[in-house]
Amino acid sequence: MSDAKSNEIGVAVLGLGNVGSQVVRIIEESASDLAARIGAPLKVRGIGVRRVDTDRGVPADLLTDNIEELVSRDDVDIVVEVMGPVEPARKAILAALEQGKSVVTANKALMAVSAGELAAAAESAHVDLYFEAAVAGAIPVIRPLTQSLAGDTVVRVAGIVNGTTNYILSEMDSTGADYASALADAGALGYAEADPTADVEGFDAAAKAAILASIAFHTRVTSDDVYREGMTKVSAADFASARALGCTIKLLAICERITDNEGQERVSARVYPALVPLEHPLASVNGAFNAVVVEAEAAGRLMFYGQGAGGAPTASAVLGDLVMAARNRVQGGRGPRESKYAKLPIAPIGLIPTRYYVNMNVADRPGVLSAVAAEFSKREVSIAEVRQEGMVDEGGQRCGARIVVVTHQATDAALSETVAALADLDVVQDINSVLRLEGTTE
Ligand code: NAP
Repeated sequence: MSDAKSNEIGVAVLGLGNVGSQVVRIIEESASDLAARIGAPLKVRGIGVRRVDTDRGVPADLLTDNIEELVSRDDVDIVVEVMGPVEPARKAILAALEQGKSVVTANKALMAVSAGELAAAAESAHVDLYFEAAVAGAIPVIRPLTQSLAGDTVVRVAGIVNGTTNYILSEMDSTGADYASALADAGALGYAEADPTADVEGFDAAAKAAILASIAFHTRVTSDDVYREGMTKVSAADFASARALGCTIKLLAICERITDNEGQERVSARVYPALVPLEHPLASVNGAFNAVVVEAEAAGRLMFYGQGAGGAPTASAVLGDLVMAARNRVQGGRGPRESKYAKLPIAPIGLIPTRYYVNMNVADRPGVLSAVAAEFSKREVSIAEVRQEGMVDEGGQRCGARIVVVTHQATDAALSETVAALADLDVVQDINSVLRLEGTTE
């Protein structure tokens, strides 16, 4: 436990990559300020890595590949986990908590699947488990939701929580590029990983949505509860249509408290690319930036904006948690524990009221528009706007027409049934794309 002679708070840092190296740097460079804020100095006792045999820019004697031994050291009070992925991080964090050490983690994949188990271990040991950096990098959003808004009722949290996909979509919007070339650009600039699946298929955003929904609605929500669609099918043509409708396209994570037809309150957590009106605050969040809009009954709408990833920005959030956990050690006591009393059931996607944008190629002949409109009306889906344009082939001959339909709000189930029925119509040649329209309630 903390060194009795020197009053130092012993810290084990697991991971010395993008985030870990910045965490260690800030602990060293800001040592005296941090000590003054905490009331005791922080001392890095060891750093867990896979490769101990290379020059890592830190004293070699701090490096170890024996994570189990490091977290179990008597002179370690707080474990900072910035190594990912789910394992071995889960095992190391559980071991630390069970031994009475507070834990700070940036590991969203882990928190989205194992928060319950880890929170229970922290509870039994009366220690802190903090994870501000797991959602939206530097942007304070976990602490505002758990503490600043603890007396309010949050109804909705909607955000752009993945910088890679936001960079790609912003690039497609501003340059007219297609998905493949915007992804290649993002890779060349270091915004996309060699395997971008976790980002472009929405897994990363879904993990963050699970964490946000859990704390906003006092209900356990895991990655498996989040409805997810990736953004790989968004095309340059979708952006052209979106622009014509006064919108852009963003990959959104949306967490909502809804009331179903039986009056049952439910939680919806979902991730998908959606049209967003240009006047909506999330429409102007561009490049690799993140933003989260929180709507609460008394507070109204709050927006949090900033750098959602990167070594130093993420380390800022980690350090904030570390200072909190260290202060609690010095002063006695612990921070707010998790609150999961509401236990709201998860709403299936079919129940969610939403608006659709449907872009389809149709035969160029009379009666097509009314056949298309009839499918919407059969399912009581009201059409807000229709655009139709003729298409010509390479020889300049008319070869069909393109219809874009934007609906008013209806349940997702009614809308998806309508799209399935449209696909079966003889006059519909192709459904080019179906996207939701968010940020309006008409
Ligand atoms: P990274 O650059 O890949 O670094 C990972 C570090 O952890 C490396 O030092 C690696 O050791 C070490 N490590 C990995 N597996 C290990 C194992 N089995 N045993 C011991 N050490 C191991 O990762 P990062 O970008 O810093 O991200 C770290 C965590 O922060 C992840 O959970 C990530 O999701 C989260 N996060 C990252 C960002 C960001 O912008 N990067 C933002 C928010 C949250 P070696 O160096 O020896 O390979």
